[in-house]
Amino acid sequence: MKKILRLLAAVLAPVLLLSGCQLPEDAAALNPRTNSSTASEATASAAALQKKASIWYFDVGQGDSELLQLPDGKTVLIDSGTSESAKGLVKLLKGLNISKLDIVIATHPHADHIGGMLQVLRNFEIGQYVMPRVADDDVPTTKLYTNLLKEMKKKKITATQAKAGLTLLNESGCSITLLAPKKAQYTKLNNYSAVAMVTIGAKKFLFTGDAEKESEQEMVKSGVSLHADVLKCGHHGSKTSTTTAFLKAVSPTAAVISCGRGNDYGFPAPQTLSHLKSAGVKIYRTDEQKTICAQTDGKTISFETGLASATHT
Ligand SMILES: [Zn+2]
Repeated sequence: MKKILRLLAAVLAPVLLLSGCQLPEDAAALNPRTNSSTASEATASAAALQKKASIWYFDVGQGDSELLQLPDGKTVLIDSGTSESAKGLVKLLKGLNISKLDIVIATHPHADHIGGMLQVLRNFEIGQYVMPRVADDDVPTTKLYTNLLKEMKKKKITATQAKAGLTLLNESGCSITLLAPKKAQYTKLNNYSAVAMVTIGAKKFLFTGDAEKESEQEMVKSGVSLHADVLKCGHHGSKTSTTTAFLKAVSPTAAVISCGRGNDYGFPAPQTLSHLKSAGVKIYRTDEQKTICAQTDGKTISFETGLASATHT
C-alpha cells in the first residue's frame, strides 16, 4: 500500500507543480486526486497576468476558510475555520511559505469562521484586519470571541470595519471590494457577513461568508454588479442562502460549498444543489473533494480538488 502511495505521489507531483497549487509535499501526497485535464488547460492558455493567482478553499470541516495568493505575492485570508482545524490551517499556510497575511477578513464572529483566528494572529504577521461592526445586542460573549479581541489588543491590531462599498485592494490588475454588510443592524448574525468581490484580471470570485436571504436581497436591490465566475455559496450551501434572484445576478459558472462531511445541519441543502444544477453551475464541495484550489491567469480558471485538509494533521 505504502509503495502504491509513493508511486502515486511521484506521478502526481509534477502535475501539482505544473499547475502551481503547491502544498507541502507530504500533504499533497496524502490527497492525490488531481484534475490533470484542467491543469494542463490552464498551462496551455496565454497568460494575461504575469503570474497566476491561486484561490484556496480549504477543507476545514464544518466551517469556512479561503486564501488568495495574488500574482504580486500578496496574501488574503478570508475566515479561519473552526478551533478544531486551527492547527491544520496554520500548517497548510506555513506549507505555502506564508509568513505574512496582508489582509485578513473575518466575515462574521461565528465559531466556524473565526475559530482558528487566534492561532492565525499568533503565527502570522497581519497587515490589515477586517471585520464587521456588530450591533451591541448581537456581540458574541463567547470565550473564543473575547480571547480573540484580547489577542488583537495585545498585538495592537485595529480592525477596519467591513461595510459595503469599501475597497480593500486595487493594484496589479486585482481588486477586492466589499458588497456587504449594508446596514448597521441585522436580526441574524449571519447577515453581518462581509461579502467580498475579488477581481483578478477579467475573472471574478465572490465570497459571501454566511450571508443569507436578507443580505442577498439588499445586494441585488443595490444595483451593483454581482456577476462572478466563481461563487463561494453563502452559509455552507444552506437553503437560506443562494436564493434564486441572487444566483441569477451572480450567474457563476462554478460554485464552491464549504461544509463538513456528514454535518449535523444537513448542509448543503438539496434545494441549493438543485438550484445550482438547474442553472448549469459546476459544483465543488469541500466535504466531498477536500481542499479545492482554483487558479487563474485573469483569463481562464482551472480547478484542482482532493488537496490536503486542515482537519487531518
Ligand atoms: Zn458558518
